[in-house]
Amino acid sequence: MAQKTALIVYAHQSPASFNAAARDVAVQELTEQGYKVIVSDLYAMNFTAIATQDDIIGDLKKPEHFRYGEESMHAWKEGRLRDDIVAEQRKIKEADLVIFQFPMYWFSVPAILKGWIDRVLTHGFAYSLDKLYDNGIFTDKKAILSFTTGAMHTMFQPDGVHGDINIPLWPLQSGILRFCGFQVLAPQIFWSVAHCPPSVRTTMLEGWRARLKGVLAEKPLTFAPSELFDLSFQGGFMLKPKVREELKLQPYGITVGHHLGKALPPDNQTKAQPTDGK
Ligand SMILES: Cc1cc2nc3c(=O)[nH]c(=O)nc-3n(C[C@H](O)[C@H](O)[C@H](O)COP(=O)(O)OP(=O)(O)OC[C@H]3O[C@@H](n4cnc5c(N)ncnc54)[C@H](O)[C@@H]3O)c2cc1C
Repeated sequence: MAQKTALIVYAHQSPASFNAAARDVAVQELTEQGYKVIVSDLYAMNFTAIATQDDIIGDLKKPEHFRYGEESMHAWKEGRLRDDIVAEQRKIKEADLVIFQFPMYWFSVPAILKGWIDRVLTHGFAYSLDKLYDNGIFTDKKAILSFTTGAMHTMFQPDGVHGDINIPLWPLQSGILRFCGFQVLAPQIFWSVAHCPPSVRTTMLEGWRARLKGVLAEKPLTFAPSELFDLSFQGGFMLKPKVREELKLQPYGITVGHHLGKALPPDNQTKAQPTDGK
């Protein structure tokens, strides 16, 4: 069997952190399984987190009104993107599995990782208007968000003080990863790592190692199939009227985002759904 490649995009400042330990577990376990493992250690690389015209080599198409999305798309097509972006894009192209390892910051990813997303997932390279979601560019790749929190699990339940964890996961997992076509595997969440006993942390790391043993065989999370939508400007990229009618009878919305004014499907962004036929 051809060797698999895993890319770990890692965003923590300290080699003594729990995030570093989770990264190391993944590197060890996947290497033992025969993967080629590539780590992008964003702080160690001093990775640029801001999308600016410095990312474009050579003349801008419209210097009088700089638009990052358009200029970076042209630069990607013409081989004029900055080297650090091109290097990360090569790693993604090679990867069968991409693991994002980070501490939750403000219900999201640290700025340096958001910068990686902004700069590396260039229009044309990672998506285009006709290559999105089910028809996306990275449909042959799997991705996992693996992150730590300060909060306890109960705080992120629908009746917990922070609200339902499925909601902050939606923009990351659907808006970024699924948008680019990735098969998104269930997130690996290490709850409240700084406030639990050492034995619990050890158990969490062992659980991560055990999960990685069969990771590529995991069933991805369920998202709304693209075929449910009229993907045209005329149709407004909205649910087909027939589908909308059919869904009226369902007790839950389709996803966290496509809630249709109904209850959110439980665990939509945290667990693969057993009923999904894929
Ligand atoms: C700007 C900012 C925004 C934040 N926003 C949020 C938010 O929105 N929601 C939220 O929940 N939290 C938030 N936090 C908290 C943050 O998510 C946590 O501090 C972080 O997830 C903890 O992970 P860590 O790797 O830094 O832990 P660390 O503090 O590095 O590690 C935790 C413990 O694990 C130990 N450890 C290290 N290696 C190992 C090992 N091999 N085995 C066992 N134990 C080990 C460490 O010694 C330490 O005792 C925020 C923090 C910041 C700074």
